[in-house]
Amino acid sequence: MSALAHNYKRKNISFSKGKGSFLISNTGKKYLDFVQGIAVNSLGHSNKFLIKAINKQANKVWHVSNAFKIPEGEKLAKKIVKRTFADSVIFQNSGAEATEAAIKVARRYFYSIGKPKKNRIICIKNSFHGRTLAAIHASGSKKMTEGFGPKIPGFDHFEFGNHKKLKKLINKNTAAIMIETVMGEGGIKVIPNWCIKSIREICNKKGILLILDEVQCGIGRSGKFFAFEYAKVKPDIVPIAKGIGGGFPIGAVLMTKKVAKSMTPGTHGSTFGGNPLAMAVGSAVLDQINNNLLKNVNKMSKYFISNLNILKKKYPKIIKDVRGLGLLIGLQLFHDQTKFIKKLMNNNLLTIRAAENVVRILPPLNVKKSEIDLALKIIDDVCKKYK
Ligand SMILES: *Cc1c(COP(=O)(O)O)cnc(C)c1O
Repeated sequence: MSALAHNYKRKNISFSKGKGSFLISNTGKKYLDFVQGIAVNSLGHSNKFLIKAINKQANKVWHVSNAFKIPEGEKLAKKIVKRTFADSVIFQNSGAEATEAAIKVARRYFYSIGKPKKNRIICIKNSFHGRTLAAIHASGSKKMTEGFGPKIPGFDHFEFGNHKKLKKLINKNTAAIMIETVMGEGGIKVIPNWCIKSIREICNKKGILLILDEVQCGIGRSGKFFAFEYAKVKPDIVPIAKGIGGGFPIGAVLMTKKVAKSMTPGTHGSTFGGNPLAMAVGSAVLDQINNNLLKNVNKMSKYFISNLNILKKKYPKIIKDVRGLGLLIGLQLFHDQTKFIKKLMNNNLLTIRAAENVVRILPPLNVKKSEIDLALKIIDDVCKKYK
């Protein structure tokens, strides 16, 4: 019996070593890992730059309190600000914390300008913003909130695509609209550019804030640094996590000057958030997310998606849809995907589920064409036997 609680349905497999796109199991089997810790290991396993960065920092100082200046954090924040819409950053340790902080920043902003009643956040029903109490109620998923009452107030929901409802929900107490630019857990649903643009316009017109959750789709995964860059909009607040740490737990909330001003000393904090070890790794990750890497994401994405579409034509009774952005790819099946994912695993390809019968495929951003070819072959083989 495991001494670990049973809050995960784990597959009966564990790993002893990882290198790039591959993982070696404890029984010596080699797997092509297209989960990568759920879009976390953006540079693959055992990346030499990250190993160097973490070792270098580990020999200096791991952790100091945020009561002191942390130059490693100053450096990473500066790099983020230089590359993005943001003027200011607060570091956290996870995605849920980052979205929680985003909610706090939105509320605090209106509080600071004398509108404390403007505190409601509008979200998409069955989205995913993490597993803390506020985040599960922001997500508006029955499954995630069941048994965790009382309901955290302050969130309103509209169905994906229902802008009429969205407009109706906005009232004088609305502070922000918070959406994932690409809905990850929700089934790799890419919010169209026109939709993001029109939500930005609605926010401008109503004087409310736009929070774009890029915890999963951000930091190069979409083929641009942020997925919202495709829509050419500027959000007010952006939580990030997953890919920025390359495997080390890092989260952050990115903000414009306007809203960041409200986060005065004492308003928010985290013991671990932004410690030197995390910041050194984050900096090393960011240095690798350069134009060459983004080019690779776009090239590999195009190649992967076009070939998956060929498989879709070849197996029209199995594959319903191929969707995604960059290397955040969803293969939607006509039936439950559990068995399919297991068969891929038995053929040495690791993938993970998302809602709506989607097989989620998350290669590292530096994936090679030969590795995608291998994945395509395994998917083809599994489909063949499904017939
Ligand atoms: C994973 C995820 C989160 C939560 O991140 P954790 O690190 O698991 O807390 C929040 N938002 C989105 C869009 C995510 O994909």
